[in-house]
Amino acid sequence: MSTTVPAYAAPAAGEPLVPTTVERRDVGPNDVLIDVRYAGICHSDIHTVRGEWGPQDYPLTPGHEIFGHVAAVGPDVTTRRVGDRVGVGCMVNSCGECANCVRGEQQFCLDGTVFTYGSPDRDGTTTQGGYSTQVVVDAGFVLSVPEGIEDEQVAPLLCAGVTTYNPLKHWGAGPGEKVAVVGLGGLGHLAVKIAHAMGAEVTVLSQSLKKQEDALRLGADHYYATSDPATFETLAGTFDIIVNTVSADLDVAAYLGLLNLHGAMSNVGVAPSPMSVPGGLLNGHKSLTGSMIGGIPVTQEVLDFCAEHGIGADVEVVPAARINEAYERVLASDVRYRFVIDTTTLTA
Ligand code: NAP
Ligand code: ZN
Repeated sequence: MSTTVPAYAAPAAGEPLVPTTVERRDVGPNDVLIDVRYAGICHSDIHTVRGEWGPQDYPLTPGHEIFGHVAAVGPDVTTRRVGDRVGVGCMVNSCGECANCVRGEQQFCLDGTVFTYGSPDRDGTTTQGGYSTQVVVDAGFVLSVPEGIEDEQVAPLLCAGVTTYNPLKHWGAGPGEKVAVVGLGGLGHLAVKIAHAMGAEVTVLSQSLKKQEDALRLGADHYYATSDPATFETLAGTFDIIVNTVSADLDVAAYLGLLNLHGAMSNVGVAPSPMSVPGGLLNGHKSLTGSMIGGIPVTQEVLDFCAEHGIGADVEVVPAARINEAYERVLASDVRYRFVIDTTTLTA
């Protein structure tokens, strides 16, 4: 038994998304049924449906930034009530028992994390994501959304927010630390807000000067265009932490030159090609590292942190019929700064 709900899906790699339906399982003892209100469009959705991260089981409904309200709970669920404001991010299940799950890093479950879409689920089906009107999720993967964040600004915190908060926290962003954010898109704009709220001195490194005014409004202290070669001379040896959110290949060596001694460059953007790094550039005890989303505890921490600091995503709400157009604008670096789908416009 299952329920059929309206959704948007990619029929095949590289094809435009189309209206469709997906099946949602009956609410099990530990499940929560959520009425999805807004679903963010992450660049990872685009990489995935275009087949850039390997073959997928099409048709595929993406979406792993989900905000909505609890519509029903299973009999064993004690932590959620109908009507609660909730979120779901990039994962919907994990084994809960392996060393990585026990330490709250379910995104690295040794038994295989069940990601929110395109992932083999425990029942043998392929998970389908948040570009739909309802989802059914294990209660352990449902996040509480505190008051203080506008409904339409919540969803991007569930992926873009935690993905940038996690490395900033890990590498100690705070007062006295100089943080550079490379790429001012969905992840980048939240990185700026979060690093600023942590007390760091924040610099945005963007391809052009087009987003300068926005960056300063978001909380950046400085802004430089990476198209200007002088930027790399002026800022040589400056930063303690660089968060690279760029979705394309980047001259990593040039950015390593901007790190101070003991600095770290954390790559959260997923470049298509392998990186080339001259070893000498790491000699100042510099770290070149990566980070992938965040576990459930830190995702909750992000929502609480953002509520406390008045942080929501800067969003452009779009009807379902404009999803493909939104994808094109993301690809053209023309997102200001996250598209969020109004799920009331999804009809089967
Ligand atoms: P986005 O909104 O498209 O932002 C990416 C930004 O990168 C663009 O706005 C642009 O900023 C810059 N950029 C794009 N193409 C570039 C190029 N050719 N050269 C230099 N800069 C370029 O994407 P997003 O949703 O923030 O995601 C960013 C990346 O993170 C994607 O690869 C995504 O898959 C990945 N991601 C990773 C994780 C993780 O767990 N590690 C989680 C979520 C997403 P400017 O216009 O300012 O230059
Ligand atoms: Zn994402």
